Amino acid sequence: MNFYILTLFPDMVMQGLHTSMIGRAVDRGYLSIEAVDIRNYSEDKHFRVDDYPYGGGAGMVMQAAPVCRAYHALKDRIGKEHLRVIYMTPQGRTLSQKIVQELAKEEDLVFLCGHYEGIDERALEMIATDFLSIGDYVLTGGELPAMVTIDAVSRLVPGVLNNDASAEFESFHDNLLEYPQYTRPEEYMGKRVPEILLSGHHANIEKWRRQQAILRTLKYRPDLLKEANLTEKEREFLEKAKGK
Ligand code: SAM
Repeated sequence: MNFYILTLFPDMVMQGLHTSMIGRAVDRGYLSIEAVDIRNYSEDKHFRVDDYPYGGGAGMVMQAAPVCRAYHALKDRIGKEHLRVIYMTPQGRTLSQKIVQELAKEEDLVFLCGHYEGIDERALEMIATDFLSIGDYVLTGGELPAMVTIDAVSRLVPGVLNNDASAEFESFHDNLLEYPQYTRPEEYMGKRVPEILLSGHHANIEKWRRQQAILRTLKYRPDLLKEANLTEKEREFLEKAKGK
């Protein structure tokens, strides 16, 4: 899968994404990540890419021309007719695991990162296909949101995780949060690992984990349970837990 990031801060995204598992996946050829510096497409002698907003008001706005030129140069270079261009913006639909799964089906994704007060609307009308937010708060730029999205999508690309199954049974799978996890030692500061996990009885462990996932979701994200994929028995378990 290929990620392209249109940004004013290429070092920030390249450094951030070249560590840990994503960095390893790039080195192994499962992913490619390229940052395009929008500033290189400025026609201003001082490489300015922003200007005052028409109509007045605080802050600066990124100009349409450098953004569009950066995009078209990328598009011509990679030779793709249609590219999905995701503008990271607090005004977009909120990123979720469902959206991550949908994005992971693409071969190429272009991320457009705004700064200052954002980007001239005309550029967005011309090149953006998606508007994506990472939550209801305002950050200084789209780089962190793009990195968050790329990280989440990358985990679903086959080969990126050491064990592909680990992406299958995680929080939001079946609309449940993940069950609690434990590792060695069996006892830490007087707290023991639940006995069931040491039993070696896989069916019972699976049942316990599902129940824990249900309890945890009920406690922290009851809103998810409406859409949760539960068996008849699990529904009964949930109803009992609600009564407690
Ligand atoms: N004036 C804009 C508004 O009120 O909608 C906010 C601009 S923000 C200071 C600068 C840039 O940061 C945006 O263009 C966007 O790319 C990015 N950004 C900020 N918060 C974000 C969020 N929650 N999700 C995605 N991108 C965000």
